[in-house]
Amino acid sequence: MIRLKPVFKEMVWGGNRLRTEFGYDIPGEDTGECWAIAAHKNGDCRIDGGKYDGRTLSWLWKNEPALFGRNDGSKEEIFPLLVKIIDAKKDLSIQVHPDDEYAYEHENGAKGKTECWYILDCDPGATIIIGHNAKSHEELEHMISTGNWGGLLREIPIKKGDFFQIFPGTVHAIKGGTMILETQQNSDVTYRVYDYGRLQNGKPRELHIDKSLDVIRAPFDPDAGYERGEALEGSSNEALVRCDPYRVWHIRCNGSGIYRNCMNSFMLCSVTEGEGTVSTDGCSAESVRKGDHFILPYGFESFSLFGDIEMICSAPGGL
Ligand code: ZN
Repeated sequence: MIRLKPVFKEMVWGGNRLRTEFGYDIPGEDTGECWAIAAHKNGDCRIDGGKYDGRTLSWLWKNEPALFGRNDGSKEEIFPLLVKIIDAKKDLSIQVHPDDEYAYEHENGAKGKTECWYILDCDPGATIIIGHNAKSHEELEHMISTGNWGGLLREIPIKKGDFFQIFPGTVHAIKGGTMILETQQNSDVTYRVYDYGRLQNGKPRELHIDKSLDVIRAPFDPDAGYERGEALEGSSNEALVRCDPYRVWHIRCNGSGIYRNCMNSFMLCSVTEGEGTVSTDGCSAESVRKGDHFILPYGFESFSLFGDIEMICSAPGGL
């Protein structure tokens, strides 16, 4: 098992719950993001312990392809996924991400971003924004240019344990008082549509209205579903989503559990509650606790858990 040390990001909207609830040594009282499993130029996690201690995840991906089941000459040049924990003390900007095709063309070959959110915790009455109410692209442009945010944005109530899939081209925002675990494509391309007129170091943060208008899909279809996929075989667990870039599962283990690796892939695991031990294929167990993030390398058939523990697990390439 490959343990990772998170990278932290201070944000105008961040708070301190990554320390108070997860015990991380965060850089300040406005820490918004914990890049928990990341191999990106803007945040590259280091391996914590073992043979590869201190190496970055990017280094491992490039130099130890067998750990990830990659063939020689594999065309996947970058690590496919990025897992974050987000502490939104205040509202995040209203934003949208491009798809792979648009990002490749307009962002120097970058990946687009499909992402999904598991609500770890939120204040009573908390909401998020997903989608908009414009009936056409013309109406969308009009509502943005006139600043009719109240009419445009589709705000919905949330509670702990909810799950949301955000496809590229979907306007969205996490609102204050919310902690989420985000699983996404390995991309950092965000187009900011609206930032509530806030200032950072005395200046408004940059908006990207033209690119946003290029990629926002209108009208928004709130009923456009996504596939949940199947649960992992074995002990009780729940499939959250299956889409082209990833599959994600929620595991809640009380006592003990065993789970088959249906993807024949490496797996990304984040402990979101409790503590216990993890072992693959009956090998020696390692202790893990809330806030730990690790990768189970390619080639295992099943993993076992002991303890009272909750995890979000994912694997790349869902369909
Ligand atoms: Zn986003």
